[in-house]
Amino acid sequence: MDDIKKILVLEDEAGIRSFVVINLRRSGYEPIEAATGEEALRLLAENDDIGVALLDVMLPDIDGFEVCRRIRASGSRMGIIMLTALSQEMDKVTGLMTGADDYVTKPFSPSELIARVDALYRRLGAADDSSDDEIESGPFVLNKRNRTLDKNGERVKLTQTEYSLIKLFMENPGRALSREDILENVWGADYNGELKIVDVNIRRLRMKVEDTPTVPVYITTIWGYGYKWGS
Ligand code: CA
Repeated sequence: MDDIKKILVLEDEAGIRSFVVINLRRSGYEPIEAATGEEALRLLAENDDIGVALLDVMLPDIDGFEVCRRIRASGSRMGIIMLTALSQEMDKVTGLMTGADDYVTKPFSPSELIARVDALYRRLGAADDSSDDEIESGPFVLNKRNRTLDKNGERVKLTQTEYSLIKLFMENPGRALSREDILENVWGADYNGELKIVDVNIRRLRMKVEDTPTVPVYITTIWGYGYKWGS
């Protein structure tokens, strides 16, 4: 990420959209507005330098989850934050399972939204300071220069958040990591969301890296505490 911080704002309610846009501009971002899912997908195709997308869920045409699914299906690793109107757990989980990095529940304050966007940008742009480019573990090779993961020589498509998670695990093999540790490492110390986001992202990551996601052997659960790389 460089200094042009283009953000797509997909929201059909003009009032909320302009409220979001004004606050993003004030914080140094360059918002691009869309009122429908189709418009958002078109703008994303035309602007390949958009770093983050804020996606409302309830839209007049295709819903925000479907927009998210299509962005990920195109191979994009951009940051995605869902704006969920419903406070139901299902809504958040669905959003994260379709490939979103985070969610903000309406109504949200400008400072809450900007904090999430800032945190996501930091994660996307986080430079690796290690001189070791690759970490190998079992069938996995993590390349820190290219921010990629291969399993048995085949590329595993990861979002930036998933990459940050697997990197944390592979750098700490066999070490029990608490959910708080993981949240702080991957989402940042000032992240103000829920701990639950860790579990949902791990569930999603397991679907990509485990042979049998329901019987994980690479990312194992430590009940009542957190997770560990390896058994
Ligand atoms: Ca809406």
